[in-house]
Amino acid sequence: MKAGKTEQRSLNASDKSSSRKTRSMQFDYDLFVIGAGSGGVRAARVSSSMGAKVAIAEESRYGGTCVIRGCVPKKLMVYASQYSEMFEDARGYGWSVGEPSFDWGALKTARDAEIDRLEGVYGRILEGANVTRYNQHARLLDGHTVELRDGTQIRAKTILISTGGRPVKPPFKGVENTIVSDDIFHLESQPKSLICVGGGYIALEFAGIFHGLGTHVTVSNRSTVLRGYDDDVREHLIEALTAKGIDLRLGVNPVEIAEKDGMKHVIYDDGSVVIAEAVLMATGRSPYVDGLGLEDAGVSLSDGGAIAVDEFSRTNVPSIYAIGDVTDRVQLTPVAIREGMAFAETVFNDNPTRPDHDLIATAVFTQPEIGTIGMTEAQAREGHDVDIYRSVFRPMINVLAGREEKMLMKIIVDKASDKVLGVHIVGHHSGEMIQCAAIAVKMGATKKDFDRTMAVHPTSAEELVTMRDPVSGAT
Ligand code: NDP
Repeated sequence: MKAGKTEQRSLNASDKSSSRKTRSMQFDYDLFVIGAGSGGVRAARVSSSMGAKVAIAEESRYGGTCVIRGCVPKKLMVYASQYSEMFEDARGYGWSVGEPSFDWGALKTARDAEIDRLEGVYGRILEGANVTRYNQHARLLDGHTVELRDGTQIRAKTILISTGGRPVKPPFKGVENTIVSDDIFHLESQPKSLICVGGGYIALEFAGIFHGLGTHVTVSNRSTVLRGYDDDVREHLIEALTAKGIDLRLGVNPVEIAEKDGMKHVIYDDGSVVIAEAVLMATGRSPYVDGLGLEDAGVSLSDGGAIAVDEFSRTNVPSIYAIGDVTDRVQLTPVAIREGMAFAETVFNDNPTRPDHDLIATAVFTQPEIGTIGMTEAQAREGHDVDIYRSVFRPMINVLAGREEKMLMKIIVDKASDKVLGVHIVGHHSGEMIQCAAIAVKMGATKKDFDRTMAVHPTSAEELVTMRDPVSGAT
């Protein structure tokens, strides 16, 4: 379904107050948001600033997956885990470092306090934006009515669903003996050994975290790691993780996870068995639509179980929209936020806006870190004659440290137009670097634009503007 400008139920600045009076006779709110994660909170706040009367319902904690049990606490744990290598490397720079020790409880307390603080910030943002908060589950009764857990029924002209996603566990025998990423943040003690099942973002990020904190880590996946990423990136990462001592088992899948004497025994389909204190299932996330009453409101789902929306995030029910992971377009926080802002522009600012899902840069906080934007080499070769620029080098910081780990930088260029189709970085701060490179790529930069940019020296990032010759073998 395509929503044109005239179809949008929008508030013009001139008719906001009069239309609100009319509407308020029919509706309690102009907008009711279900789910106060990154996308929902942004949509609520921005819609309110555009003159809408807004309420939001949240059954758990304000901030959603990213703030409470995802990106933020994860990144704090990444920082914590990086110190073990820093203590080792410091010796190469002349420091005498005693035997470092790590206190899981101390990190948990500090991390949880920061998450509590951020949750408070989210609450205050909503309060400051005059958004009414209902701290309970909400479900749809029809296209304009929601029912709260306590039975209160509320009518809204527009309803926005932003309930996010939930980890999924495949139906392996004994899967109840495993944990998911949400559970990591509640562990009272650090497991001495951990098996991460899955080769995606979550398995690999937690593998790096736990390895850095001193846990013995095994990663297994039925295929490879980071399927869909550039082959050089994946190979570089596999090599680096293996060199660090992470036990990587690719091409195997569990058939059973048994519990014996407090330990988990993962039996794989090749007959091998790995025993660990904990098993993390990091096998993807699915849209969280349970108990939302979508059937009652007549909201359609896609084949994959996500809420189906058009390019303006509108469902098949004209008064109901959905954004973020529950729509399973691109499962990333900044994408949900952009979708929320585009929704507010469309519905409450008379400015139909499609969220732009093209050329999204992303970072994977593995150790080493990955930053990537645009096409992989394989994707680019499908429709383009390409030049590949690749540099693998030992960053300066690793030299005195005696660390062999190398960085990878790769630029994929369309030969005909000289346009940069993709940039892929593995190594220190690549998440930070790719954010800057992404601006250039999004603007349509050519390789010549990269080349005429003066290097910032001495940095690792300068390699991005100093790669002169395509690698041999490129077409
Ligand atoms: P991903 O989709 O990234 O990876 C899932 C992994 O589990 C894949 O390796 C997949 O293997 C494997 N898998 C899937 N289903 C099964 C199954 N039935 N049996 C065995 N293995 C299976 O999911 P994650 O859980 O790692 O992350 C979820 C989402 O969260 C990501 O898509 C990402 O967008 C987001 N995220 C982003 C982060 C970031 O931006 N840094 C950090 C964390 C999460 P195969 O490849 O063979 O399909």
